[in-house]
Amino acid sequence: MKKRAIIIGGGLGGMAAALTLSRHYDVHIFEKNAWLGGKMQSIQVGEHQFDYGPNTLTMPRYFWELVAPFGDAKKLLPFKKLDNATKHQWGEHEVTFTTNRHNMQQQLAAIDPVSAANYPAFLEEVTRLFKLSEKAFLTKTFFSIKDYVKPSLLYHLVQAHPFETLDTFLARYFPHPTVRQLFGRFATYIGSSPYASPATFAMIAYFELVDGTYYLDGGATTIARVLEELLLEQGVHIHINEQIEKLAMANNEVTFCETAKGQYSADMIISDIDYAVAQTLLGRQPRTYELSTSAYVELITLKEPVPLHYHNVLFSDDYKAEFQFLRNSQLANEATVYSCYPYAATKEGHPGLFVLVNAPAKTALSMKKAQQQVNEALTRWGINTSQIEARKQLPPSYIAETFHVMQGAIYGQASNSLRGSFFRPANKDSRLKNVYFVGGTVHPGGGSPIVVKGGYEVAKRIIVENNNCIK
Ligand SMILES: Cc1cc2nc3c(=O)[nH]c(=O)nc-3n(C[C@H](O)[C@H](O)[C@H](O)COP(=O)(O)OP(=O)(O)OC[C@H]3O[C@@H](n4cnc5c(N)ncnc54)[C@H](O)[C@@H]3O)c2cc1C
Repeated sequence: MKKRAIIIGGGLGGMAAALTLSRHYDVHIFEKNAWLGGKMQSIQVGEHQFDYGPNTLTMPRYFWELVAPFGDAKKLLPFKKLDNATKHQWGEHEVTFTTNRHNMQQQLAAIDPVSAANYPAFLEEVTRLFKLSEKAFLTKTFFSIKDYVKPSLLYHLVQAHPFETLDTFLARYFPHPTVRQLFGRFATYIGSSPYASPATFAMIAYFELVDGTYYLDGGATTIARVLEELLLEQGVHIHINEQIEKLAMANNEVTFCETAKGQYSADMIISDIDYAVAQTLLGRQPRTYELSTSAYVELITLKEPVPLHYHNVLFSDDYKAEFQFLRNSQLANEATVYSCYPYAATKEGHPGLFVLVNAPAKTALSMKKAQQQVNEALTRWGINTSQIEARKQLPPSYIAETFHVMQGAIYGQASNSLRGSFFRPANKDSRLKNVYFVGGTVHPGGGSPIVVKGGYEVAKRIIVENNNCIK
């Protein structure tokens, strides 16, 4: 009889681990909500089916790597590349991201010729940083202190610009503050500040500017649907609407999980839930740390198409002040506003706009400012109220309550420090022999491709280290 692996949480991290373990273990996924995919959720507003959570899809290779053992990866997940992915606007400037270097240089030259001239060197450095990070961190799992004290880790860490901030690093290539702001925004992909997070995260630029930005017909939630189909084919037991409420322990192991519907014996537990919440489930007091940002989201259905790009960013004038507000747990007086408009590529169905303003991880906060900022952004994008059919507002409390996340912090601990960036919670519990952690709040971190990569790598190591999967 196969040993039983219980996965707590059906987000991307849990699904990736479950799928990889499914050939070796009797896998059960427990998800408190009615759907699998976690924050990768489909939400209906009026006629339109929105993607909540991941809208910017990058690094298809990590998704393909996960599904490749179960079919033709590129057919299962036919990612399509966006040519002109994200249009960024300031008062008098605009830049649309593309992987075409020459085109990017031309656009940057309109703002600052020196920044344009340095762009190829910047791409070379972010490519080096990505390759280094992939080798040293993204493909590595951290199960015990032994994994941290390896000389090779220290060697790679020192080469990854850990001691300078992303903004200082960018200043070496881009003397113009507008261009620095453009690339500093990558820190928000991990819920952090470009003025505090290590320059290592410049490697996120590799994802969009070297590898590219992608979309899937049917939206991002296609990924969750495809993974769920593969899990079912593999015989994984999926328990939706079933929250793990209690864990029973004996001899430094979790032996049983309890839900409102019953008790389930477990040979191993893989938690995909917020790490701090998992600690309380294990009967511990979570450590306090600076939380990553949350989000204020509006899902807006439109009566008619509008002339927007797939991804759109309206930058604030004072980016530094914006992050000071967020780190002080307040909404910024003037915020950068992002929108996703998939109709720009698909021209299918009803046009809908996903709008996001970075918000602090704090559930008890008035969202009036953010609502006002969304209204102003809509006006700047040329959308008037008569074109709007319906709108749904989702504040940080939505994230906190729907996914059981500490204060609605999307990525758990912020990456605004060395510890938060390089020493995130490990993938194996230090005290309990059979408890593992995956998902965006632990190593290697958040963002859908990284979460999938993490879940896949943890499961692979579990299989190797527990090659006796039969009871
Ligand atoms: C608004 C927003 C925008 C984003 N934009 C992007 C983007 O553009 N690109 C990108 O790559 N990423 C984006 N992300 C980040 C991305 O969604 C996450 O990093 C990733 O989906 C996290 O997956 P996970 O498996 O770690 O966690 P989750 O998706 O949170 O999954 C954990 C699951 O555990 C369940 N759960 C919790 N407690 C229990 C319990 N006790 N028992 C059973 N189940 C439980 C929760 O309901 C949840 O479904 C965004 C996120 C948000 C919220």
